[in-house]
Amino acid sequence: MDRITISDLEVFAFHGVLKEENVLGQKFMVSAQLYTDISEAAKEDDITKSINYADVCKNIELFLTKNTYQLIETTAERLAIHLLKIYPRIDKIILELKKPWAPILMTLDTVSVIIERGWHQVYLSIGSNMGDKEANLKEAIRLLEEDEDCSVENVSSFVITKPFGGVEQDDFLNAALKLKTLKSPSELLTLINRIETALKRERIIHWGPRTIDLDILLYDSVVIQTDTLTIPHLYMTDREFVLQPLSEIAPWVKHPIYGETILQLWNHLKKN
Ligand code: ATP
Ligand code: CA
Ligand code: CA
Repeated sequence: MDRITISDLEVFAFHGVLKEENVLGQKFMVSAQLYTDISEAAKEDDITKSINYADVCKNIELFLTKNTYQLIETTAERLAIHLLKIYPRIDKIILELKKPWAPILMTLDTVSVIIERGWHQVYLSIGSNMGDKEANLKEAIRLLEEDEDCSVENVSSFVITKPFGGVEQDDFLNAALKLKTLKSPSELLTLINRIETALKRERIIHWGPRTIDLDILLYDSVVIQTDTLTIPHLYMTDREFVLQPLSEIAPWVKHPIYGETILQLWNHLKKN
């Protein structure tokens, strides 16, 4: 992907573990690689379709002088997240924060941290079979959108599906949605659990009735297996109520284990 780079922007600021550093201040240097698609801006010679690097430099300076942190790790992390949020065109950022005057009573060139942060593409499945099902789905989507680290980019149509797993219960209303997030998979699971609790989800019978169920289907092309999280979702390829709405919004997305597209997986399942 295209990149705009800024090298060694100097900012005088007050970050540091030592009190003197917070009072006297020192020089910091910031280098950033901003991953963004510049083709449209380049073709049309139009700055409004790119990222104004002068503006980015001003915002870096403003952020570093308005806030004071002890660690350069924290400073770099917060700065990267801040830039990703205020410039929606940046997909990913590699940021280096150097401290050339680090007070360690020895001579060195610089000490620095380099971090990489970016937006992740996630697909969720969402379902409800209790109360006002449509209102439950819409409320869960609203709560996802309300989280400042998430942005809901696409929602499939809501499909009525028969319950699954042998428990006698009402039909489900299901959908799939595409999310852009700065959260890690486990942070996203925490958010999902919070939203389920807010919507009065109670875990009484496994695969039983629920006001809301949110599952993480895909997270970039990540594969994870821990006690609390399996990504891609273990049963997604066996479930019509997942693949039908998902194939509407992500037909060409590939399953990272099977290597087939969602549309292919949905077609296989329909045939069986
Ligand atoms: P199923 O997993 O078959 O769809 P369920 O959604 O009814 O069943 P829950 O009671 O909602 O099951 O979830 C049980 C646990 O599954 C959660 O607490 C969570 O830790 C874990 N889990 C594992 N992988 C995922 C995932 N990809 N998305 C959401 N939860 C997951
Ligand atoms: Ca589920
Ligand atoms: Ca679940």
